[in-house]
Amino acid sequence: MFNKILIANRGEIAVRIIRTCRDMGIKTVAVYSTADQDALHVKYADEKYCIGPPSPTESYLKHLSLITAAELTNADAIHPGVGFLAEDALFAEICKEHKITFIGPSIDNLTEMGDKAEARETMAKAGLELVPGSRRQKGGILKKNPKKGVIESEEEALELAEKIGYPVGIKAVSGGGGRGIRIAYNDMALRNLFYTVKSEAEAAFGNAEVYIEKWIENARHIEMQVLADNHGNVIHLGERECSIQRKQQKLVEEAPSPSLSPKIRSEISRAAIRAVRSIGFSNAGTIEFIVDPEDSFYFLEMNTRIQVEHTVTEMITGIDLIKEQIRLAMGEELGYDQSDVDAMMNGHAIECRINAEDPDNNFTPSPGKIDGYLPPGGIGIRVDSHLYDGYVVPPFYDSLVAKLIAHGRDRTEAIARMKRALDEFTIGGIKTTIPLCKRIMNDERFLNGLVYTNFLEG
Ligand code: ADP
Ligand code: ADP
Ligand code: MG
Repeated sequence: MFNKILIANRGEIAVRIIRTCRDMGIKTVAVYSTADQDALHVKYADEKYCIGPPSPTESYLKHLSLITAAELTNADAIHPGVGFLAEDALFAEICKEHKITFIGPSIDNLTEMGDKAEARETMAKAGLELVPGSRRQKGGILKKNPKKGVIESEEEALELAEKIGYPVGIKAVSGGGGRGIRIAYNDMALRNLFYTVKSEAEAAFGNAEVYIEKWIENARHIEMQVLADNHGNVIHLGERECSIQRKQQKLVEEAPSPSLSPKIRSEISRAAIRAVRSIGFSNAGTIEFIVDPEDSFYFLEMNTRIQVEHTVTEMITGIDLIKEQIRLAMGEELGYDQSDVDAMMNGHAIECRINAEDPDNNFTPSPGKIDGYLPPGGIGIRVDSHLYDGYVVPPFYDSLVAKLIAHGRDRTEAIARMKRALDEFTIGGIKTTIPLCKRIMNDERFLNGLVYTNFLEG
């Protein structure tokens, strides 16, 4: 059993992890930048350690400061949360060198799935269907120098687009959080965007490599939550529907999906289990799929970490996913099989991401002091947030300030509770995405379960 865990993150997810550690009787260490000294995760943890100035590269992303904090506080393990170092194989390796457990999958799993073009090759081998697009090619006659599945020149991009047809997505191999993706509808746009994505990717992820996929229109984003232990047991916890997005970033997520037939649901879950087994994955992960209007589904990427929207799965299964991550990282066995989980599935859950942004002014970031904070309550409502009255939302980090989750016996009840909770939720002093979430909850298409990744553009 771990005695103490250091949480290498901030915001609502750091608070979320501390809460589970408390439930498990595990001590916690918060790390924080100078911009976060009054943050809730710092107040809630047993110990706190300042790791640098506001800039993430100087604090939350700084490997050695985090390792030093863990060593000085005698932490047995580090939970990386989401974003920051959650998918950083080098950081996991440094943890290992220092005999600190990285709460996540193996270094090999992080490496294999961290390069999205390589992940496509691995999953094709496992028999998953890929979105048509760039692929690794064998070398010449001597089979030397096989070409990676990345696109190296404008000409190569144009050639591939001609083969698979427009529109095409140009995507950073190290991309994440919806960044490093552009859509081209013709040759001219592709020529320009090829370089745009490359330079953006270099700046954001330190890796300019890009790959290309056919851009599936009127698509749905469906993902499968999986759990796997070090003893060969793999289960899935059902799917999440995450099609309501803005600029390729999720805004509303729900489980189960209102748009999947039982047949496709079981096919997708089988594909996800196959994917996980093929790489000997352990811990918590998500396989993301894109589903086209004909219900054909394609592997999109694998996130080898806990996800923001894990909460909806928790609400319908009753399983604490952070607790499972910690148990699995300690080498414990899963403790239940697929039929146990299937029997636990209960009702419907929806999550609204509340971001500190102005939805009526082009989503301009809206940091600042919270003046009046009143979260909603009542049956079926959960709020995961680091906000409190008087807290100042700093401008340096992700804009997510609260996750509002509604659970009900069925989708209709979950929506009714979500509407009620959105009406009750008061966050004064800053602009938030609450008004947009209200509009979505009243949208005929949403009410009928007709959600697509271009929902907010229509
Ligand atoms: P989820 O996949 O859990 O829905 P998001 O895609 O919304 O999560 O990302 C959650 C956070 O993690 C965001 O702050 C996002 O910017 C960050 N993030 C995700 N992937 C990466 C990555 N590859 N590189 C840097 N930051 C990332
Ligand atoms: P990230 O690593 O940023 O999460 P993803 O590859 O998961 O990137 O894509 C993010 C979102 O972009 C998807 O949820 C989907 O809405 C959209 N998307 C990505 N690739 C495609 C594609 N080939 N066709 C249609 N939509 C796509
Ligand atoms: Mg994704």
